[in-house]
Amino acid sequence: MTEVTMDKIVNLAKRRGFTFQSSEIYGGLSSCWDYGPLGIALKRNVKDAWWRSMVESRDDIEGIDCSILMHPRVWEASGHLEGFTDPLIDCRTCKARFRADQMEQAQCAKKPSKRPGEHDDCDLTEARQFNLMFKTFMGPVEESASTVYMRPETAQGIFVNFQNVLTTSRQKIPFGIAQMGKSFRNEITPGNFLFRTREFEQMEMEFFVKPGEDETWYEYWSKARLEWYRGLGIRDENLRLRPHDEDELAHYAKACVDVEYKFPIGWSELEGIANRTDFDLRRHSEYSGKDLRFFDEASRERYYPYVIEPAAGADRATLAFLVDAFDEDEAEGESRAVLRFHPALSPIKVAVFPLMKKEGQPERAEKIAAELRRHFTVDYDQAGSIGRRYRRQDEIGTPFGLTIDHQTATDDTVTLRDRDSMQQERLPIAALVPELTSRLSKPWKR
Ligand code: ATP
Repeated sequence: MTEVTMDKIVNLAKRRGFTFQSSEIYGGLSSCWDYGPLGIALKRNVKDAWWRSMVESRDDIEGIDCSILMHPRVWEASGHLEGFTDPLIDCRTCKARFRADQMEQAQCAKKPSKRPGEHDDCDLTEARQFNLMFKTFMGPVEESASTVYMRPETAQGIFVNFQNVLTTSRQKIPFGIAQMGKSFRNEITPGNFLFRTREFEQMEMEFFVKPGEDETWYEYWSKARLEWYRGLGIRDENLRLRPHDEDELAHYAKACVDVEYKFPIGWSELEGIANRTDFDLRRHSEYSGKDLRFFDEASRERYYPYVIEPAAGADRATLAFLVDAFDEDEAEGESRAVLRFHPALSPIKVAVFPLMKKEGQPERAEKIAAELRRHFTVDYDQAGSIGRRYRRQDEIGTPFGLTIDHQTATDDTVTLRDRDSMQQERLPIAALVPELTSRLSKPWKR
């Protein structure tokens, strides 16, 4: 069994252009990451899979894309201005900062073998509440009247648009509104690569239901969200649902369960599914003076819907898919790193290789690559030995390789190599599009 460490993942991600440190040439900006050519393809596939499953494949969920800056009253109503805080402790000696609720896992900055406070030199402050929202100013005047916040979650954009979507989409309860986009949190202890950053992308859906039907829908979404990760190839033994204890629940939540993944740092939250009750719509009604209740035509009742919220992170999910796919084994007598992605997530679906740079093989291969590009993401590679070229594609998780050789000129066939079984078979060029399409849509398990 390969031991997957965060270092191995970060190294591969950097070496192959999945991610780069932000502003690297200036020494980097801590906990901010840029996605390179393969990283953006992978993350887009993750987001597309989420959007397809949550919005496009259903008739009871609508999409929305709200602005990042919102009216400051939104954050008063939601409780973020007052309560979106973490308890912060400073060490006056080494200037390190810790989250008071994570002291058990924290290390002293001077003596990493000790916990903060255990070393003689440590001079810790009392815990104080630190608001995680980033502030900025709207317009040219930097004064408190023009303060706005970078949204710390995408959910509030959905709540404040509840009536807009309801009246324009002709949906009825139960129905949902989904949004993907950037959120910002001035985390006290960011780190562990993409796991916790200060700028990240969320994939959130608010599902509005009749009070009394909330528990059934909460169960439904907990199972559905776990299944989504399984369906995209995450192994069962690395996934679990962890219900929150009563004392962990946010002030607005009646129940909450985390989908947890066994990251190299241990079991940690991948996504949270919360029963937010009618807290948000009630508060926004109160603060805005607009009646956000739903009118049920059948029963002639007007009520505040309850909300079930599956809230996932696109970057954290991308990290989980990278970690779960990582493998090392022997191929054709050499050790190789391979990313065993579900083919739907692989940045490149098909690699096309001319076996040799002669007999018109490159020209034939480029023609095939151009044709396939109309259907799939394709990489054309003619550099180095064929073994090396296979290795390069295995390392970025390309599920299929096509080799154009001497025989192609005589019978219009090519060899198709499978990343996982490493089996090769000969296929007519004319059969490639249907064959690859069918293989890419088959259920897949590692
Ligand atoms: P945590 O307990 O890890 O801080 P949270 O419970 O505050 O997370 P939520 O507010 O429920 O997180 O956000 C939903 C999802 O957004 C999380 O499950 C995670 O995938 C993602 N997320 C939240 N904070 C970050 C972050 N700082 N960096 C990357 N992803 C994040």
